Amino acid sequence: MASTQRRPIIAGNWKMFKTTPEAAAFTEALQKRVQAQPKDSLPEIVLCPPYTALTTVRDAANKVNAPFEVAAQNMDYHDNGAYTGEISPLMLLDLNIRWVVIGHSERRQYFNETDETVASKTVIALKYGMTPIVCVGELLQEREAGSTDRVIEQQVRTVLDQVNPEDYAKLVFAYEPVWAIGTGKVCEADEANRVCKLIRQIIAENGSAEQTRILYGGSVKPDNTAGLMSQSDIDGGLVGGASLEPDSFFGIIEQACLVNA
Ligand code: PEP
Repeated sequence: MASTQRRPIIAGNWKMFKTTPEAAAFTEALQKRVQAQPKDSLPEIVLCPPYTALTTVRDAANKVNAPFEVAAQNMDYHDNGAYTGEISPLMLLDLNIRWVVIGHSERRQYFNETDETVASKTVIALKYGMTPIVCVGELLQEREAGSTDRVIEQQVRTVLDQVNPEDYAKLVFAYEPVWAIGTGKVCEADEANRVCKLIRQIIAENGSAEQTRILYGGSVKPDNTAGLMSQSDIDGGLVGGASLEPDSFFGIIEQACLVNA
């Protein structure tokens, strides 16, 4: 089991799914299930709706007194400016949104995010007191070529080069092997743990990694959660497909509670 110094996180990335009524209904339905769980074993639960539903989820969570954090799925690295279509950290803070997913592989793959833009976004998130969930992960070709560790080291180091070691505790990394995202092919728990441990070792080269939370993402489901969450260096999950229905997302939270009890 991961260190008790680190509270586990279960985050649900809805991607480009859910209208505002669907988002509100989900939030209330999830809380109905979560409220029956013992509070001290609950992971930090983070919902990542599309921009259009951020305030809907925030308000629905407040209405039913749900202990959910709300995260944007992306943001720009400027305070403001002529960047049509972008959303800045100040705009998210204006909505009281304090978490943000950065560098998801779909952003890297379809929207030209680079290790450098991921680093810039992480820096500005920390500057404004936001919690960044920084995604890293190798492509299938990279894994097959034996380059997984080199790719992860490059992605993680590019971010850490820009971050003050005093802020390492505020970072959340998500190791998401790209070949496991949305494919139903989960990375074996011990291999996922090996890579999460590698990330922790890289962090520890310049500061303390003891409080940095490192999540695994890639086809997390209720039936593989316990195996992943029992590992020494996996502090939770970033969940895509299985976060879209209250029952399956709650199934993952419930398993995390059992491991954390
Ligand atoms: C994700 O979108 O970050 C993800 C891990 O998706 P899935 O759980 O569907 O593989």
